[in-house]
Amino acid sequence: MRIVVASGKGGTGKTTVATSLALVAGESVRFLDCDVEAPNAALFLNPALETHKDVGIQLPVVDEAFCTHCGRCAEVCEFHAIAVIGKKILIFPELCHGCGSCALNCPEKAISERLDVMGVLEGGSTTSGIDFAQGVMNVGEPMAVPILRELKKWPPARPFEIEIRDAPPGASCPVVETMRGADFTLLVTEPTPFGLHDLKQVVEIARELGLPTGVVVNREGIGDNAVEAYCAEAGIPILMRIPMERCIAEGVAQGKTLVDIHPEYGDLFRQMFMQIASLL
Ligand code: SF4
Ligand code: SF4
Repeated sequence: MRIVVASGKGGTGKTTVATSLALVAGESVRFLDCDVEAPNAALFLNPALETHKDVGIQLPVVDEAFCTHCGRCAEVCEFHAIAVIGKKILIFPELCHGCGSCALNCPEKAISERLDVMGVLEGGSTTSGIDFAQGVMNVGEPMAVPILRELKKWPPARPFEIEIRDAPPGASCPVVETMRGADFTLLVTEPTPFGLHDLKQVVEIARELGLPTGVVVNREGIGDNAVEAYCAEAGIPILMRIPMERCIAEGVAQGKTLVDIHPEYGDLFRQMFMQIASLL
């Protein structure tokens, strides 16, 4: 079972929920921190990150000695990342998606590829046995999706029954890529107008991908009842409510998980697993 924990809005407690979910999931769980621009789940789960791998995309390299300037590579590039102007070939790395079409279609076999490193994947285990991996994007890189694709392919250290993906904030391509291929989306929100606005955006993505959803309302007690009303109308079950408590905020700031701060949440997260399984 692959569960994505998403929120739309940053700072809603998504990682707080995802890490506690992993801690109660038993031994056959793996955790992917897909927030590659700012991964922070490792601060809570403390894995020993022993394996590292550079990741990126394959950029084309043209050997001018073989190029006849026929223009075929530019024709097939749907991203306009390669141009042939007279006797010159220009490559625009920031537009290239590393799809390989230009190399495949070059009649002279004049195009080879080189890895453009965009970040690193890191993996290891936690003391509680969670098989953990994260992607870390290099500062200034424009595209997170190639790193996410590789992270999702990260070989598991052992067979797993449950995979938890901690999604990036927002509702753009990296979130869609994180949700693609999952079985369920757990949406963490807060009962405020901003929370509701972003919740709706991620619900739309989940619907387009055909994923069932459930909601965790974090910081219950602030804001209004609009999230509750929306979930009732949209038929989305609220699977957990976490009240606004100063001790939770202080504990999280110290790197503690919710089940460290309040061990009684262990049973609530285990019940939530059963509810999720019943919704699949
Ligand atoms: S397809 Fe090959 S031969 Fe034609 S312009 Fe591109 S690199 Fe040169
Ligand atoms: S690898 Fe794909 S995106 Fe990049 S230049 Fe070639 S065809 Fe265009």
